[in-house]
Amino acid sequence: MSMYAMPVAKLIDAFEKLPGIGHKTAQRLAFHILGMPTEKAMDFAKAIVEAKRTIQYCSVCGDLTDTDPCRVCGNEKRDRSIICVVESPRDVAAMEKVREYKGLYHVLHGVISPMEGIGPDDINMKTLIQRVGGGETREVILATNPDVEGEATAMYLAKIIKPLGVKATRIAHGLPVGGDLEYADEVTLAKSLEGRREI
Ligand SMILES: [Zn+2]
Repeated sequence: MSMYAMPVAKLIDAFEKLPGIGHKTAQRLAFHILGMPTEKAMDFAKAIVEAKRTIQYCSVCGDLTDTDPCRVCGNEKRDRSIICVVESPRDVAAMEKVREYKGLYHVLHGVISPMEGIGPDDINMKTLIQRVGGGETREVILATNPDVEGEATAMYLAKIIKPLGVKATRIAHGLPVGGDLEYADEVTLAKSLEGRREI
């Protein structure tokens, strides 16, 4: 039995389900919300509902977007011959800070991880192969994170991509091992992109 009234307990529980939020933080956030003026709390709730309602996955690259295709896929000025493959929409946001990059993206929404039972069919890989086989692509930059799963996924993809006559490259190891792309600064990312090698 919770020491709080049911709606409070439910709110704490909802926060606790978010990544990186423990019970103490969930309590603090819940009480912060309850202490807000009603209008502010309503705006917060509305922002969640609105984002959930309007944001979808781009049917081409799999990134989060409010238009389909997304702004990158629909932009005529982007270089259609290069596709940068990343694990999550957060990585696209990180890569977009690197101004030298003018190509397209493909978001896998995960990596192959036999330990967790995640196979090639469980991530957004099929549409990537279709895109690469479409004839427009000259190079696929494999920018999955430099950890065990990220490396294995990059190798797996390279094996499929190369027989299609398309160059497969891997971002350089300027990134710390186990370091996520999304936390790398602009300069590090630009360097690892510049130093990419064919695999
Ligand atoms: Zn897109």
